[in-house]
Amino acid sequence: MQHDGWIPTACYQCKAECAILARVENGRVKEIRGNPRARGKACVKGMAGVSLQYSPDRLTQPLKRTGERGEGRFTPISWEQAIEEIGDAMADLRDRGQAHKLTASFFPHSITDPKWRFLNAYGGFINTALPHCDSAKIVAFIKTFGGVPNHHIPPAFYTVPKGGVMLLVGRHAFGGLDNAAVPQDILDARERGAKLVVVDPFFTQDASKADWWIPIRPSGDTALFLGMIHHILDKKLYDEDFVQHWVREGDLQRLKDYVKDKTPKAMSALCDVPASDIKKLAEMCAKAPSVGIDSFKGIMLGQALDFGHVWTIFLALTGNVDNPGGQPMPDVTPLAAVEPVPTPPDLAELGFHRTGPDRDVFGKYSFIMEPTWYQAQAIKNDSLKILINSEANPALTEMGQEAWRQAVTLKDNGRYKLELLVSYEIMHSETSRYADYVLPDTSYFERWELLYMPWWYNYGHGVVLRQPVVEAPGQCRHSNEVFIEWGKRLCPEYFAFANDIDYYDRQLAGVGLSVRALQDMGGVWSPGTMGFRKYKEAGGFGTPSKKVQLYWEDLEVAGQAWPRPDLAPEYTVDAETYPFVLISYRSIFHQGSGQWTHNNPQLRDPVSGLQENMALVNTNTAERLGLAEGDRVKLISRSGEVRTSVKLTERIRPDCIGLHHGFGSQMGRVAVLGAGVSDNLLIPDAGETLSWQDVIGGESHVSTRVQLVKG
Ligand code: SF4
Repeated sequence: MQHDGWIPTACYQCKAECAILARVENGRVKEIRGNPRARGKACVKGMAGVSLQYSPDRLTQPLKRTGERGEGRFTPISWEQAIEEIGDAMADLRDRGQAHKLTASFFPHSITDPKWRFLNAYGGFINTALPHCDSAKIVAFIKTFGGVPNHHIPPAFYTVPKGGVMLLVGRHAFGGLDNAAVPQDILDARERGAKLVVVDPFFTQDASKADWWIPIRPSGDTALFLGMIHHILDKKLYDEDFVQHWVREGDLQRLKDYVKDKTPKAMSALCDVPASDIKKLAEMCAKAPSVGIDSFKGIMLGQALDFGHVWTIFLALTGNVDNPGGQPMPDVTPLAAVEPVPTPPDLAELGFHRTGPDRDVFGKYSFIMEPTWYQAQAIKNDSLKILINSEANPALTEMGQEAWRQAVTLKDNGRYKLELLVSYEIMHSETSRYADYVLPDTSYFERWELLYMPWWYNYGHGVVLRQPVVEAPGQCRHSNEVFIEWGKRLCPEYFAFANDIDYYDRQLAGVGLSVRALQDMGGVWSPGTMGFRKYKEAGGFGTPSKKVQLYWEDLEVAGQAWPRPDLAPEYTVDAETYPFVLISYRSIFHQGSGQWTHNNPQLRDPVSGLQENMALVNTNTAERLGLAEGDRVKLISRSGEVRTSVKLTERIRPDCIGLHHGFGSQMGRVAVLGAGVSDNLLIPDAGETLSWQDVIGGESHVSTRVQLVKG
């Protein structure tokens, strides 16, 4: 344990996990700021971590369910009892030859996480708590460039040169999901003379800082880019040098043929961006020394794989691959493997696809299914028997939340079909209400973790240490420690190390470091080796041809060899009944639908934050509908309805309704006191849109069409 003072560690108020300094006084966290060794920023959520740490809602002892699942009745038990009973259930499942029916759902924030090791050694698998997010973009990058992108925040904004273009397409970078330093990096780049263009149906904080806001029709992203590609080819504005050397022979001509009819005018009709603006943006990008395109929600608001594909084509055509200000490719930190390395189960051999239990059904989908939907399906068809949840909230996080709640309470001959549901929690969540065991986790101020992801903006080119800065209350224990204990009991040959610190020390040996050395270095090790144009040294890209492959012949059969411009069905179907598109947006105040920020009084404060998620309605729309500020309305979709009040604004397109994501929790004192509704009640269960996803490449279902009714 460190002493009083400013102690380097890592924030975890959101998935960005920024390197921070925590000021500790008399054993209590008092203040948080960014770690200057990692560009030195912490956002408002991060600074409110003090309130999380000392929340009266913190769980401090293991609990065992006494009522039915969902009733939320528990009795305290000892850790010994919890570990033994859960461990016995896991041993029993494995003895029955069904280890692959155990999944742990957690945010895979570091490849060093001992939970991964446990799953591989035991024979279960990770059902990532990450939803589908930008998975189609990863797939697209792999297909076109032959490798995993540095995807989470594509442009390294601190490398954008003067005159560079930063294009945020449906990305709320000022919402702090990637790194609290990102907004400053963007603003600094603007100071250097770069341009910021925001393409979004919603006027975000990013848009308020932009040189140009383009209020696109939701799901029109692919059409916009195809229109730009047409113009760039037509005017010969592409990067000839890059294309000549690095694009596979024949692909340019094929692309020219394909986009012949995708004129700016034709695409304008789809995306609702004037043809003149499509041309203007294309020319701006083509002439700029760099273009960095960040997209996330843009993908989720549209036909994901098609957009991912057009994104990679645009990058290649404009030569913005692994260049300053463009799309970085990751650099790998050579951490050491901890021997013996367990081999994960062969899910395909077991009849599983990684996105679900039925390979025949899921094999054709090119994206990662969201955990909530997968879990509900797998429980129903007896493919999931033990679910261990950690830092995830499937009962609230995703569309299909009701299906999840029903699935975990399904019974067969009087016994739950899901035999065991364990949830690690800092404080009760919607999910813990259904758990058989609720285990009190440590906060991020009380645990050791070695954070490394090859593609992370924060420390993708290095590692960051999270270390305990204060004592954990009561009997809290970090989930990693407990998984190591189960590992020692159930698969001891793979857990022959002392504890988590020993485990991290062995990994850090690969870069000549140790936990102690990392502590002494201020918690961050970043060799600064990101580099550019690494494909040149590597002798080409990771594709079979070693070149950039614009055309995807393997998806010819699915009609997806080229990106298709059409709007996703989610945005066009039943438009007469449901005239508005719901835009599910985020702000700097809350992360996901986790309890941590929503239960934080500083972030639900009426002055500094949000108390409820009112429906944002364009003022012109409101006038047409006879709505006034604060009027109560019902939002109705094909799958559900919620009642909230309206906030009038000009920040949103007249054909859209905005709803802040993540509200609607009924657990925790602030959640109960505050208002707010869950957008996930409106968004159809992924299962309902599977046929569309097959057609469009997945992931359109974080939004939907809605009707707005006064009263
Ligand atoms: S962006 Fe996320 S991780 Fe970074 S300081 Fe803010 S809340 Fe913490």
